[in-house]
Amino acid sequence: MSNNIDKLAEYFSKFPGIGPRQSKRFVYFLLTRDDQYLKELSENILSLKKSVNICQICFCYFQSKNPTAKTQCDICRDTTRDDSVFMIVGKDADMENIEKNNIYNGRYFILGGYLPILKNSASWVRSKELFKLIERELEKGTLKEIILALSLNPEGENTIYHIQQILKPLQEKYSFKMSTLGKGLSTGSELEYSDDDTLKNALKNRS
Ligand SMILES: [Zn+2]
Repeated sequence: MSNNIDKLAEYFSKFPGIGPRQSKRFVYFLLTRDDQYLKELSENILSLKKSVNICQICFCYFQSKNPTAKTQCDICRDTTRDDSVFMIVGKDADMENIEKNNIYNGRYFILGGYLPILKNSASWVRSKELFKLIERELEKGTLKEIILALSLNPEGENTIYHIQQILKPLQEKYSFKMSTLGKGLSTGSELEYSDDDTLKNALKNRS
């Protein structure tokens, strides 16, 4: 049976971008902390899913200041935002980065990941939700553009291709623009880490 150190290290090794060596370092770091720190950390982990909601429109994780607003995030409930444009991003961190840079005032949809190459759209988590949302918005008559704000790596391009296929019937029925971010966002670069100017240019040069 594995010991406590190995066991905990195994949990950390499942974190995105964390390898076995780093995960061990996390464990040894925790061993240097006092009981209070460990207690607070454990409590925060335990309460995480109880205090964080998932938005029923854009699918972001959120904690609202308004305790009665449990189904829609602050961005989706904000009536001053532009309803004519929806930006599709891969993950919460991408949306956070775009919001932080104050370069966009439309709506969002979070895919929750990219579509791995060699997988087809049928096995893909939020494709149905995306279709439903876009259809509903088009029926309202306000939606004019969808921006596919995905990294231009092979998985990102595969995802873009499948979204275009999924939304094609809607595009034939209603007319709207479907754009991708400009090449200012270099191949493989992550939206999550792109800086203000890079994002601004990528958004400006979308086509
Ligand atoms: Zn939302």
